[in-house]
Order: sequence, then structure tokens, then C-alpha cells
Amino acid sequence: MIDAVLPTYNRAPLAFERGEGAWAITADGTRYLDLGAGIAVNSLGHANPDLVQALTEQAGRIWHTSNVYQIPQQQALAERLVAATFADTVFVTNSGTEAAELAIKMVRKYWDHAGEPDRIEIVTFAGAFHGRSTGAIAAAGSEKMTKGFGPLMPGFHQVPWDDAGALREAVTDRTAAIMVEPLQGEGGIRPLSDATLRLMGELRDRTGCLIVFDEVQSGVGRTGKLFAHEWAGVTPDIMMVAKGIGGGFPLGAVLATQKAAAGMTVGSHGSTYGGNPLACAVGCKVMDIIADDAFLAEVNRKGGLMRQKLEGLVAGHPDIFEAVRGQGLMLGLKCRVAPADVVNAGYDERVLTVGAADNVVRLLPPLTITDDEIAEAVARLDRAAARLEA
Ligand SMILES: *Cc1c(COP(=O)(O)O)cnc(C)c1O
Repeated sequence: MIDAVLPTYNRAPLAFERGEGAWAITADGTRYLDLGAGIAVNSLGHANPDLVQALTEQAGRIWHTSNVYQIPQQQALAERLVAATFADTVFVTNSGTEAAELAIKMVRKYWDHAGEPDRIEIVTFAGAFHGRSTGAIAAAGSEKMTKGFGPLMPGFHQVPWDDAGALREAVTDRTAAIMVEPLQGEGGIRPLSDATLRLMGELRDRTGCLIVFDEVQSGVGRTGKLFAHEWAGVTPDIMMVAKGIGGGFPLGAVLATQKAAAGMTVGSHGSTYGGNPLACAVGCKVMDIIADDAFLAEVNRKGGLMRQKLEGLVAGHPDIFEAVRGQGLMLGLKCRVAPADVVNAGYDERVLTVGAADNVVRLLPPLTITDDEIAEAVARLDRAAARLEA
């Protein structure tokens, strides 16, 4: 008999009843140090008092009205995102997938509006992950996500990861956009080189194509900048955001320049829940806390500390680990064993990590993790590695 829950997930035999900061706690009181943070979602930790207050205050007033009306919390969130980024305008969604879907629609509408409706080709990179909608799986293109789902949405052309030569060849004056995660998450914490990012800027100048960055995982302070692309200084025309922006409440957004959004007129897109008062009240509070130089400096400092300790871990277990990679508190351990084995050994040591492609285990702790917790986390990973060696 099929489970009451559609069996699309391979779940660990763990359930958490409550959380405190970087700790997730089971019903019997066992405390796990959470380096997964719901896959880069709980950016400010579990049960963050500021976020609990923002959510419950709003919950006592009004939950949902509809985009038929003005939504002041949505307006406030959009204005915060515009003030802090390249963007001139924002559409608020409930998830990263919905943000990807709109980003793809916006690219098509941009070229339609510009009088080139056939200019639909979006260049993507191998290992990409943009969600699970029909558009997003077509963009990612991997067999794992697309097999059995019939004809894919046309208009995507994939090049090998970070292959500047292939990118240069693929992008022509027929290209609608380049869409990429500046630092791949599901793909295995793989950073795009600055050279490739700069090449994208050159190709945009030459062909007029748009640049779409998917910062659903890398954004909102995760890498030590508000958005990861700020490290390379190449700004997108359109950007997807989700995960960390809601701190655990479902929330996403598409940010765009006025130019890129030119075709998105009244009636061209919508969402029942997108931009609801509850999600946006939380999102505003997350932005107030994270879009702050002192907070981001701390993410950088702690990221450096964690990286340094992880380098020691790798050196101490050369048969288990190969290297550390990533930026800020978006880190990956490239493994010599199956990442699932490391994740499972971590459960035995009460530390939560997340697997990724390219034989990587992801470490995405709440950005509020303390120095002591970082030391404790690496000590637990050290014991987990020793279990695997035994
Ligand atoms: C998680 C993720 C998505 C999809 O977001 P959902 O909220 O799961 O729909 C898209 N892009 C990237 C880079 C992601 O990490």
C-alpha cells in the first residue's frame, strides 16, 4: 500500500519537535546540531525570537487578503529588497520554484515586448537546480529530474559547468538569457569562477542577452554578502530569491531591473498567496537583521573560522574527505566516500548535514551559529569521520 504521503522523498528516520537557534530537538529531547538549516532556509536559526514576534504579531492582525488589495507588508519587503540590491522592482512568491518560473516567463516576455518573440533560448549550466516545475526541470535538464515527464519545455541550452569556452560559443545574438546559480547548491557547492562571471557581463554587452541569477540558496547573507554575485561585481537583470529570505516561512521573490521587467504589465502574472502579510512580515524582519554590514561581517568571520576548522578535519581524515569549498556559511565537504555515509554517521553523532551532487556534503548552518557551536559541529563531524574509518 502506498504511504498516505506520496513517497517522493528518501527521509531519515528523524522527526523534530522544536528548535532553538542552531539546535533541532526530537520529541525525546535529543539535541542535534543543525548544519542543514532546512537546506539554507532557517537563516536566523530555529524559533528566532524576533521572527516569532514578527509572525505572531501579524498572525493576530490579518493573515490573508489577496493581491486584489494593497498589501503594505509586501510593499515594505519589496522596498527593502530594491534598496539593498540592483533591482528596481520585485514580485513576491511562496517558493524558489515559483520564482524560477516567473524568471523564465519574464525573460520570454522581455523579448516579446522588444519585438523578438522567437528569441527564447536560455543558456544554463550542467548541475543546475532551479526547482521542480515543468519549466525548472527543463532548465536543469538532468535525467534524474526529467525522466518520465514527457516532452520538456523547449528553449534551454546547457553548457558544461563553468566552461567559459562553451559559454562563449553558446551565447549569440539569438540568446535570450543566461541563467545560473553563482554558487551552485544542489550541484555540490560549486562556485562559478570570477572569469566566467565576467565573461557573462561581456556577452551581455555584446548580444543584449539578459543575465538571470538564481540566488535561492546562495542569497540573503549565506555567503557573507547579501547576495553571492556581489563578490564578483557582476549584477544580474533578473534574480530569484527564496529559502533564507523567509527564515523558515515559505517566501520567495523575483527581483528585476525596470528594463528586464518592461513586459510584465497588469494581468501578465499573479499568485493567490504570493506576498501575503504573514510571509512578508517575516521577510521584512529577516531583511532588517541580515541586510546589515555588521551582521554580514560576522557571517564572513564565522565562515572563515568554520572553513579553517574544516581544513583541519579534511587533513585529519584523508580517506574520508578530499577538500573544503564554498564561501561564507555555504560550505561543502568534497568526500572520498558516499556523502550519504557521512550524513548518516553525522546522525549518529547528532549533527545534521545535507548531501549534494558531485560527492559533496553541504554545511549550511543558521547564520547565527556561534563560535562555540562551530567548534562543536566540527568535533562531531570529526567523530563521525572516525566512525566511518573504523
Ligand atoms: C531550493 C532551490 C530552488 C527551489 O526552491 P523551492 O523553494 O524548493 O521551490 C531553486 N533554485 C535553487 C538554487 C535552490 O537551491
